[in-house]
Amino acid sequence: MNFKKISTILTIFSVNLLALSSPLQSKKYSADVADISIDGVDNSQHATYDIYSMDKAEAIDISSDEEVNLMGTDDVKEILDIDSSDETEIETDIETEIEDGNEHENICNTKECVEVANNILNSIDNTVDPCDDFYQFTCGNYIKNHPVNEEDWIIKSFDSAEPENRERIINMLQNDYKPNKNLSKQDQENDKLLFNQLKNLYQSCMDVDTINKKGVKPMVDLLKKLQINEKKDKYNDPNELGVILAKLHNVERKNRSFTYNSLFNMNSLINDDGMIILSLGKTEGIIDDEEDSALRILLSNIFKDSEERNIDKMVDSVVEFEKKLFEESNEEEVDPYEVVDIKTLNEKYPNINWKTYLEEKFDSFGMKEKISNDTPVYNSDIAYIKNLNKILGEVDGETLSNYFEMVIIYNCMGLLSTEFIPEDFKEIKSETNRTDYCYDIISRYLPDHVSRYFAKIYFNPSKKQYAEKVVEYIRQSMINRITNVKWLDDETREYAAKKVAAINKLVGIDDSKNLETLFNNFQNLTTTEDDYFNNVIKINEINNNYSLKNIQSSKDDILESLISLPQQTINAKYYTGTNSVNIPAGILQLPFFSIGIPDYINYGGIGTIIGHEFTHAFDNTGRKYDIKGNDVNWWTQSDSEEYDEKATCFVNQYNKLYMEDKEGQKHYVFGTITLDENIADNGGLIRAYESWQLSLLEDSETVKKENQKLPGLTQYTADQLFFISFGNIWCENIYNDYLEVILYSDHSPGNARVNGAVSNFKIFAKTFNCPINSKMNPKDKCEIW
Ligand SMILES: [Zn+2]
Repeated sequence: MNFKKISTILTIFSVNLLALSSPLQSKKYSADVADISIDGVDNSQHATYDIYSMDKAEAIDISSDEEVNLMGTDDVKEILDIDSSDETEIETDIETEIEDGNEHENICNTKECVEVANNILNSIDNTVDPCDDFYQFTCGNYIKNHPVNEEDWIIKSFDSAEPENRERIINMLQNDYKPNKNLSKQDQENDKLLFNQLKNLYQSCMDVDTINKKGVKPMVDLLKKLQINEKKDKYNDPNELGVILAKLHNVERKNRSFTYNSLFNMNSLINDDGMIILSLGKTEGIIDDEEDSALRILLSNIFKDSEERNIDKMVDSVVEFEKKLFEESNEEEVDPYEVVDIKTLNEKYPNINWKTYLEEKFDSFGMKEKISNDTPVYNSDIAYIKNLNKILGEVDGETLSNYFEMVIIYNCMGLLSTEFIPEDFKEIKSETNRTDYCYDIISRYLPDHVSRYFAKIYFNPSKKQYAEKVVEYIRQSMINRITNVKWLDDETREYAAKKVAAINKLVGIDDSKNLETLFNNFQNLTTTEDDYFNNVIKINEINNNYSLKNIQSSKDDILESLISLPQQTINAKYYTGTNSVNIPAGILQLPFFSIGIPDYINYGGIGTIIGHEFTHAFDNTGRKYDIKGNDVNWWTQSDSEEYDEKATCFVNQYNKLYMEDKEGQKHYVFGTITLDENIADNGGLIRAYESWQLSLLEDSETVKKENQKLPGLTQYTADQLFFISFGNIWCENIYNDYLEVILYSDHSPGNARVNGAVSNFKIFAKTFNCPINSKMNPKDKCEIW
């Protein structure tokens, strides 16, 4: 088995797991799952893949003038004279046109169309020439209308539905379960149980009075229940150590971006053969100098009734222990990792009984029989595990007991009343943000529950049908494009087209399957509306074992759960490891998509997003994976060289793009870091345009919609609005001091995403009649797909 490759697939797991603690999950591996946007810390998967396309050349010859709506420069100027900076005026314009719309049936006057038109009119700055800076033209007024400050330092049109999503979910949780009549009686019961688990977690989190009343008692009770201190004399017995570690690892809460499991962590990952196997790795330290004194105060609170505890001694012993635990080894390991069976693990590192540990852990979810002496384990850090074994042979039980207790306290203290938590450890700084905090808690601990009930109130079959249709048009246009690419060998071209045909799609949620999976995982969970601490602990026990349950399954068997994003996510992803595209319900709303608006808006929005994800299958990373998501080279030497040359064009082009700060200083994009995403953006825009054209040819209903104009925007052609819709999804305002931060993402900033892609697309230049060598129509263009 080639374990270098394991890391490339690993990140798909974190979709369903709260945190995957293997060190392999570090950022450097994040390029294996592609998403469309800049993500917050919580979304650790990023990546890319790419596309192709070839057309039904007969159907759409994109270089043909007849197919493109051309406008004279004068026409453009006239259009640009609409003043979009005054909202009152805009509303008036729209209202007038709605009235007109009754006479001229080609104006769409639905609520959705008015909303879309309003968004666009409030965003564009028609004082800017679209051929000079298209991003500024589409987003100039968005930026003016959305100020930022040091605290709220970034705002993006991409995330504009976020507050509404939150509000919808929170409103739902403030009401009782509403039965879904399409479900059987039994399924309704199961659905209600799951709903109430989510509701209880939210309400118990919001119930500050009860949390305060309980003080540190829930933590004291948990420590008692675990009997850590009571068994301190037995920790030199490898068997006893295995038992207590399984118990501790079940409740230890993953509360920050790292995992703070006692001594080591155990997860699972997918190996080269597509099987899920156990993965053993290094843990993180809990004490650092800055937090040391805060921790002593917290411990004094928790142990105030236990006279025999000497807090200073306790903390000092743990500081000393962690120093040894994380001591760098002087020995050079030939291989940093190994795959061994459990029997060998026990022989090599005998101070923990690994078999007992795993049996206990698997027993907690009724799957003890899955563990045998032959069960393989991927040890990701030989040096660390070796050292761990050595110091376990030297350390006394009292120190280990102190360490175990402190790991639990460290992990779970955020669930206590803030009254008892030292300032440094507070997860929530002000109670005025309690709603947001509790929304984050439910999203983090019960993401699949939130996902289910978000989809229930938001998703519907017509959205699914529409989005799936767009996916298929994108697929078709990519296959068309690839078939026509001249620089690929026949063999490579044929395989690439097969890869596109094989891309799995998951749009929204499969309701019945989802209910069954969730119920199977959570049926034994009991929650109450007044016990926040224990609700989280119990949920965490289930989540901590989530990744282990699938061992020895093949990735194909659990494909859907591996690639499914929570439905409320405003994003989309391509997964290299499974050659799959996932479009959750969260992104099937404005500014990307709406039912009942002209297709040019939807294709400029969600169409470019789906095109982006498909293109990731053929970006500079994704192209190195085969149809099944294996790391297999299927390119000829000359194809690869040709590709690299074309990719270099993008690197050089994006290196010249920049954001300018208030002082006029330019902050340049890193063409290399953002290469995969830029390739995806470029391919995505072209594919979206082509697939829109395909849809017009094949679907008379959409042709009818195509003819509809938007109120207040009748001066623009459908083609122009397609590009404006694309530009609008990338509007952003960033606080001056943070421009630099944005540039270290693997995604380019909004202005480069828009201007880079449109300036490489000749249809754009024709649509806006941009003179050759104007900024948005350079003579030399970059193109791969
Ligand atoms: Zn991407």
